[in-house]
Amino acid sequence: QAEIDPSKKTIVVLGSGWASTSFLKAIDTDHYNVVVVSPRNYFLFTPLLPSCTVGTIDVRSLIEPVRFITRHKSREVRVYEAECTDIDTDTKTITITVSTLAYDYLVIGVGAQNQTFGIKGVEQYGCFLKEVWDAQKIRSKLMDCIETAAFPGQSPEEIDRLLHMVVVGGGPTGVEYAAELHDFLVDDLSSWYPELAGKIKITLVEALLNLLPAFSKQLIEYTESTFKEQNITIHTKTMVKEVREKDIVVQKPDGTPDTIPYGLLVWATGNTTRPLIKNLIARLPETQTIRRGLEVDDWLRLKGTEEIFALGDATATKYAPTAQVAAQQGKYLARLFHQLAMQELLQNEVGLASTDAEKVAKERKLRKVKDIKPFKYSHQGSLCYIGSDKAIADLPFGQGNVSSGGVATYAFWRSAYISNLFSSRNRALVITDWLKKTVLGRDISRE
Ligand code: FAD
Ligand code: NAD
Repeated sequence: QAEIDPSKKTIVVLGSGWASTSFLKAIDTDHYNVVVVSPRNYFLFTPLLPSCTVGTIDVRSLIEPVRFITRHKSREVRVYEAECTDIDTDTKTITITVSTLAYDYLVIGVGAQNQTFGIKGVEQYGCFLKEVWDAQKIRSKLMDCIETAAFPGQSPEEIDRLLHMVVVGGGPTGVEYAAELHDFLVDDLSSWYPELAGKIKITLVEALLNLLPAFSKQLIEYTESTFKEQNITIHTKTMVKEVREKDIVVQKPDGTPDTIPYGLLVWATGNTTRPLIKNLIARLPETQTIRRGLEVDDWLRLKGTEEIFALGDATATKYAPTAQVAAQQGKYLARLFHQLAMQELLQNEVGLASTDAEKVAKERKLRKVKDIKPFKYSHQGSLCYIGSDKAIADLPFGQGNVSSGGVATYAFWRSAYISNLFSSRNRALVITDWLKKTVLGRDISRE
């Protein structure tokens, strides 16, 4: 590996998700030593992850090694596949496994973890949907339920339980998973398991008044009516209170308790702060006062520090925790670092200027690069797949918003995601997966 250049400042980047990867793509390594630390040595394109739970898309089509992303940089980026377990703001070091790494600048893009609200049994019996292994686990568990239900000599109640797939959380993750499961059932399972297919049920449980609270009213109604047509049962105003091995305990809208038996339980109730971030917040009690995430200023600098920056789902900002926000922040921060490097360079050049005219010109340039604009988010719209080749989209238009839903929106959804994929390699793989699914159907083998 290339040596760290002691004449340049070292940026340690935590994470290889949307925020950190977008930063890595744009950072100019001529000016900095860059070191990446992440327990995953790849980037994952999360928007299409629900498609991996039923085999519409292969997980390998959505991932990209960090080393592949940084291979064209002018100077080598070091990558350590490790989890950062501690950040020491006094010594400016981070801890990974058995060693420590020193930083001049730290970029925190570690994302968030799955929210359980401390509800009993969720960790033990539920399946999350955030990482590659979650999608693989769901796919395997689903086929396990179906194959077990196909086994002879079981009571009708047990078969119904095994074939009841329950999704908790009516945000976009829960909705997109339910939609993919519905498609798998209609397109593939009904022909492979004709005697069981009619008994497979999908239920979505949501604590609030309706699904997808972030979308416009018209699209919420459209999604709910599409789910009704698809025989996906929706229980809104229903709060899950406990998860047991074979059923969940819920509080119904009238406040009374009920139990719902399930075979597969997918838990999609959003994000919470990672322990690493909680510890960092505890270290800076005067400036970090929100438990939801790290507080940053308008330049993404961690409040209470000079050399730490944070972005993406690890932060608590006015923006929703989305890939769109994280990616724009990553790109912005790389530009900010470029300006910081230029400042240092010009500062030296001003001192070395041989004539007054040269000095004035350099100083003018310096003033320009010192004027770093704050981060500004540009919302490109919200999209969500709702099954049966239909998607919904809330898109900004002028000062307002345009809402659309249906098959044409699905074509737009597909093209938007294809163009947002990080590499042409991923694009080719995803398009091939879609073609394979159309021609050959999805695979029902349990790996
Ligand atoms: P992440 O992408 O979660 O990345 C965090 C990184 O940090 C990972 O590489 C992780 O391994 C690493 N890490 C974790 N702990 C440590 C540690 N201790 N030390 C070092 N590294 C660590 N958003 C949209 O805008 N559009 C969508 O369509 C969309 N679809 C989604 C679908 C699903 C199924 C999910 C789960 C999310 C979706 N999102 C979508 C939300 C989006 O994925 C997140 O907002 C985005 O991933 C946040 O980016 P991030 O870089 O902050 O975190
Ligand atoms: P979310 O926070 O958007 O939704 C979670 C839902 O779970 C909420 O509606 C909440 O009321 C419900 N809930 C919480 N506790 C519950 C309980 N005990 N019982 C029943 N329901 C309960 O979470 P998400 O869907 O995982 O999304 C996380 C983030 O990722 C969001 O910012 C979202 O916009 C983004 N995302 C976007 C897309 C997309 O754009 N297509 C897809 C997935 C995720």
